[in-house]
Amino acid sequence: MSRIVQKFGGTSVADSEKILAAARKAIRAHQQGHQVVVVVSAMGKNTDRLIELAQEVNERPPAREMDMLLSTGEQVSIALMAMAIDALGYRAISLTGAQIGIKTDNTYTKARIQSINTERLRKALDDGMIVIAAGFQGIDENSNITTLGRGGSDTSAVSLAAVLNADQCEIYTDVDGVYSTDPRVLPEARKMKQVSYDEMLELASLGAGVMHSRSIEFAKKFHVPIHVRSSFADVPGTFIVAEPESADRPVSGAALVKNEVRVSVEGVPDTPGTSLAIFARIAKRNVTVDMIVQNVGMQGKADISFTVPRDDMRATLEAVAEACEELGAEGYSYDEEVAKISVVGLGMARQTGVAQAMFQALADANINIQMISTSEIKISVLVSREQSLAALRTVHQAFDLQNPPPSKSKAPTPEAAAIDVDVVAELQGSQKEMSLDQMVSRLQGMEDLTIDDISLDNSQARVTITGVPDTPGVSARVFETIAAAGVFVDMIVQSKGRQRRADLSFTVPREDLDRSVRLAREVCAALGAGPVTSAPAVSKLSVSGVGMRSHTGVAIRMFDSLAHAGINVEMINTSEVRVNVVVNGSQGEAGLTALQKAFADVSH
Ligand code: ADP
Ligand code: ASP
Ligand code: MG
Repeated sequence: MSRIVQKFGGTSVADSEKILAAARKAIRAHQQGHQVVVVVSAMGKNTDRLIELAQEVNERPPAREMDMLLSTGEQVSIALMAMAIDALGYRAISLTGAQIGIKTDNTYTKARIQSINTERLRKALDDGMIVIAAGFQGIDENSNITTLGRGGSDTSAVSLAAVLNADQCEIYTDVDGVYSTDPRVLPEARKMKQVSYDEMLELASLGAGVMHSRSIEFAKKFHVPIHVRSSFADVPGTFIVAEPESADRPVSGAALVKNEVRVSVEGVPDTPGTSLAIFARIAKRNVTVDMIVQNVGMQGKADISFTVPRDDMRATLEAVAEACEELGAEGYSYDEEVAKISVVGLGMARQTGVAQAMFQALADANINIQMISTSEIKISVLVSREQSLAALRTVHQAFDLQNPPPSKSKAPTPEAAAIDVDVVAELQGSQKEMSLDQMVSRLQGMEDLTIDDISLDNSQARVTITGVPDTPGVSARVFETIAAAGVFVDMIVQSKGRQRRADLSFTVPREDLDRSVRLAREVCAALGAGPVTSAPAVSKLSVSGVGMRSHTGVAIRMFDSLAHAGINVEMINTSEVRVNVVVNGSQGEAGLTALQKAFADVSH
């Protein structure tokens, strides 16, 4: 018998009428012959209200008590949902996370799921009941209640779908699908018919709040097809599956994080272990760092900049102050008035000039780029918060995201919601089946990190332009020149420099280095920037898998193992599926060995 998990977010269960409407959806699926698990969030803005209440009593409430409090929101809605189904003449049972047996670690307010016991669930389903599960919560090994982080009900739903081997996970929400960017921010955004796991993972972690990013890690790991759709209109939504909507569109979505802070640690010794000293301290406080950018060292000193969510600023600055003291760094600075704009697309990995098109569009709109970090399928830039909306609109338009992809590249898409399950099965057809052994081994430590590949690329060289003016249009000009010469630029990082100057580093194929340096020097002469330095042989080491960024420890493990092997990290970029570091070309092999050893326990 097929199984469906349906998740209803806060707005979808905000009052009794909405709860009854959701109950009818669950009943309809039950009538169609599916076993149905319903996951619900707290009603409306209840979680926000509980947080405010806690703040009124205690400015820094103990995390354990916070979870005890927040979990009550979902407990209210499961009971009401079960009552609604009962009132409509069907049998339902509500279960809390603890009653189901959703085991998590003990990181209160950001707990990770370790395992889920399916016995009670299966029994209730086999008895013909609709099971109503509380989203967002679990229980640790000492029976303390834990929560999974804001928006975590999505993760509950997808993880239940994974352990129950459900045919589909439907996410009912207050928008009718996943859009090219948040439609409440840009009304011209377009609903996508389909988006790939990797793209959604990046988009979610870069600001697209429609899905909790960790839920997509589960979906990808366990091949769970997701259908994001409206609670209020019966129209097909967006399918999140393995394949993208369009195979050759360079960018499929854009996202904005307004509440970002840029932190720079200045004048740190440019030696192995520096990054480790900083980021290990931040990771210990469970803060996820993004856009790590290190300028290439001068006179033995380097500056390291990165961004963190504004909510985590206090914890981050504490960590940075400690690290500065230990390292004997010159000091640190931070800027709270920044926002991060990102574009994401599987297609950009195969095309040149994508970053350049983004920089050019921003330059034409006279928007200054303060930092740049690129990876295979995303480009993020930091701009002033004031200009962030204009920047998002500019970029969205530059990649024509308001319009559907050219029809030749359309992937097969479902036409009607009624045939969801079949269509998804077809969409998933190309995906390789997981063997039972693989499945079982992955279910142990469900949210653990998994590493799929560790690789070494010895084909690249690095170019660094120091002292570029920190004004609009500079990166556009540099990469326009390089792209015009047909050189494929891989990693790009632009760090915040001092005295309104920035450093721009990028990697190119080794055979294109001389040309690239010559071109960079020409641009520099025109801009009054320089000098240009280069490294003829660099090695790019990549670790790829699932959960790379949400597991704050991945970059740390990399830094740690490389530092122990005496290897200095020159450039770094992180994404949800991969962390890349660039090291001196003579140390690539040693770096590869060090990384293989460091990740041996989580590789498969
Ligand atoms: P729920 O309570 O149902 O979980 P959320 O508020 O968490 O709902 O998520 C839905 C919201 O996500 C939408 O109202 C929308 O404003 C926002 N959002 C952000 N980015 C996107 C996007 N790319 N596509 C659709 N919605 C988005
Ligand atoms: N109620 C929780 C929150 O508001 C979980 C969720 O809605 O997904 O964050
Ligand atoms: Mg949500």
